[in-house]
Amino acid sequence: MLELTTPVQYVKGVGPKMAEILATKGIATVGDLLQYLPFRYEDRLNPRGIGELRAGEMATVIGEVRNSGLFRTRRMPIFQLTVGQGRSRLRCLWFNATYLQGKFEPGQLVALYGKVEQDSHTGKLQIIQPQYEMLGDAGDDAATSLEVGRIVPIYESAGQGRVTARWFRRVIRTALENLNPDLPEIIPAAVRARLALVSKREALWKVHWPEAGESFEALQSARTPAHMRLIFEELFFTELGLEMKRRQQKAQTGIAFEINDRVRQAIKKILPFHPTAAQKRVLKEIAEDMQKPHPMRRLLQGDVGSGKTIVSFQAAIIAIENGYQVALMAPTEILAQQHYFSARRILENAGYRIVLLTGSLETDRKREIRRHIAQGNAQLVIGTHALLEEKVEFARPGLVIVDEQHRFGVMQRLKLMKKSGDGIDALATVSRASLDRTAEGGRPYMGNAEPDVLVMTATPIPRTLALTLYGDLDLSVLDELPPGRTPIVTRRVGDERSDEVWDFVRKQVVKGYQVYVVYPVIAENEENELKAAIKMYRELSGKVFADLRVGLLHGRLDPELKDQVMRMFQKGELQILVATTVIEVGVDVPNATVMVIEHAERFGLAQLHQLRGRIGRGAAKSFCILMTGGKVTEEGERRLQAMVDTNDGFKIAELDLELRGPGEFFGTRQAGMPNFTVANLIRDRQLLELAKREAAAVMDGPNAEISSEEISRALIAMRMKWQNTYGLVEVG
Ligand code: ADP
Ligand code: MG
Repeated sequence: MLELTTPVQYVKGVGPKMAEILATKGIATVGDLLQYLPFRYEDRLNPRGIGELRAGEMATVIGEVRNSGLFRTRRMPIFQLTVGQGRSRLRCLWFNATYLQGKFEPGQLVALYGKVEQDSHTGKLQIIQPQYEMLGDAGDDAATSLEVGRIVPIYESAGQGRVTARWFRRVIRTALENLNPDLPEIIPAAVRARLALVSKREALWKVHWPEAGESFEALQSARTPAHMRLIFEELFFTELGLEMKRRQQKAQTGIAFEINDRVRQAIKKILPFHPTAAQKRVLKEIAEDMQKPHPMRRLLQGDVGSGKTIVSFQAAIIAIENGYQVALMAPTEILAQQHYFSARRILENAGYRIVLLTGSLETDRKREIRRHIAQGNAQLVIGTHALLEEKVEFARPGLVIVDEQHRFGVMQRLKLMKKSGDGIDALATVSRASLDRTAEGGRPYMGNAEPDVLVMTATPIPRTLALTLYGDLDLSVLDELPPGRTPIVTRRVGDERSDEVWDFVRKQVVKGYQVYVVYPVIAENEENELKAAIKMYRELSGKVFADLRVGLLHGRLDPELKDQVMRMFQKGELQILVATTVIEVGVDVPNATVMVIEHAERFGLAQLHQLRGRIGRGAAKSFCILMTGGKVTEEGERRLQAMVDTNDGFKIAELDLELRGPGEFFGTRQAGMPNFTVANLIRDRQLLELAKREAAAVMDGPNAEISSEEISRALIAMRMKWQNTYGLVEVG
């Protein structure tokens, strides 16, 4: 009898060789094997008669091999197969398929699957490059009973084709037949009952061997009750794990900041404008967290330009007015500096003491600043993530703000959280001498309290992804832009029209506006691309715009020069800034109204959107011009079109996720992104929401409907799961 945990080589038909190949697919146990779901199904219960085929449809045809052979055209060899059903015949073609020679014996049954097309010369129907499966000799029932007369599962083959779909079919069938009939149910009974989930055993049988009446469409889209049950299970335990982690964090001792009239006044006083409704709502969410005696772990999402900075400053004031220190971290020096300048502009009048600590400071200066921090004099400390690495000791750390978090990468986020879990020794080692010190606000300093953490990102992460990737954080969303912004007009043009583009740029500059011209520098051939950017800078500054003030900004400039250039642009001393993607994040120059992106087809969608976010920050109409040079892939076309069609960061993020898939979306495959086996974050977003709700409900137990035994069983199962997907366990 097989259990789900039984090693896969104990399934009849799986030898050591096969087990080895399966291992490369992540299949080690019977459970893994049974979670290896068909990626599609073929309806061989009602295969199409050749006579009833229609051009354009995807069809499964079962026919008898009549003849086959290779013929050569001038361009390539083509393999042709003709199958028949009685008198009807169907032709199939494969290009360059010399390997098919001798594969098909006349009289054999073969199942074909592909798109039916009409031959333009003969007008006859044919299938080009169909997927095929040999079914044995016609009339040989026993050999084909799994392959015909039913809905047949199609599996991705493995080991460079050595493990075929047909092999999987047989072995999975054997595993199912020998599986323990009383599989333990790990989803709590109350949840199963509430959602009317089918049993695990039934689900496993039916995803592999659907019953004849099953909706074919539901099968192909993984929406049968059997599919949903398996997908839900995976998502449920993921969410349960995240929910536990979240609750654990919340159970820690934090700082209960007090918000009285004085604090409220202080928050109001700094505002240079009326906050948007979204800003008010988000500040309220943050303030409520900060008042609780447990640490805040909140993610603030807001599209570029939605006004996150001021909200974070307001949160900072709450902490400072309570006598605590605040750390604000940005991914680049330029951004840290920009925050520093706006912080001074907005907060210094109110008397707050603000310092900037970045890697490029001189050693002496750094030491001095660190001393200020350690003594508690500096109230707001702004820096790059060097703050994480350098030995910075805070006297009274109260709030940590991480800006533009996506640039840090998920790993670093985890590191930050992890370290802060150990008493934030990386970010800020609490100097023990300060434990008995009393905070300025008169409140005793809680030496062992965890500081609050606010993470901000301008990458509008699709909600589904946020729920898993950041499932341990609470989520606030700034879904409204400050008033007075005119939407950005986005156009794409081929670079043969660059003269027109430069004319347009000139007109805008004459009107007093500023312009970004961006070139791609992508790591792979950085050297060449950088040269291209520099060359274009020479061309633009020396010829096209010789009479205008043009600056150059790229990552290889030394930091001082970089800052100088950026500052000149900010002050309007430069009219045109030729740059690589170093300006991507957060830079705020409201007078810049044009962004020209050359080779726009080489940028990712999220990146394009980030870049575009640098303009449209003032009241004047802004223009984003996407120039393309050379051939654009189909996916590239979709990216560019999306940019032209919408300014909505969330829509763009959804599409980006769809185009690149969750794994690539953040480039985090190795960095803690759950790797689902049966679930798919794009397809299964609704199930994910459901799983999250149910996980929370289970955690809110024990109550009448869920026994503590069930919870602990689920948690034990989850712990295994957690370990599998994340390679780490922090449960219990
Ligand atoms: P992001 O969310 O991209 O970090 P910022 O915080 O840099 O956005 O804000 C973008 C611009 O909008 C800044 O110039 C900021 O001063 C301005 N801004 C923010 N909130 C408001 C508001 N409520 N009314 C008017 N302007 C605002
Ligand atoms: Mg910002």
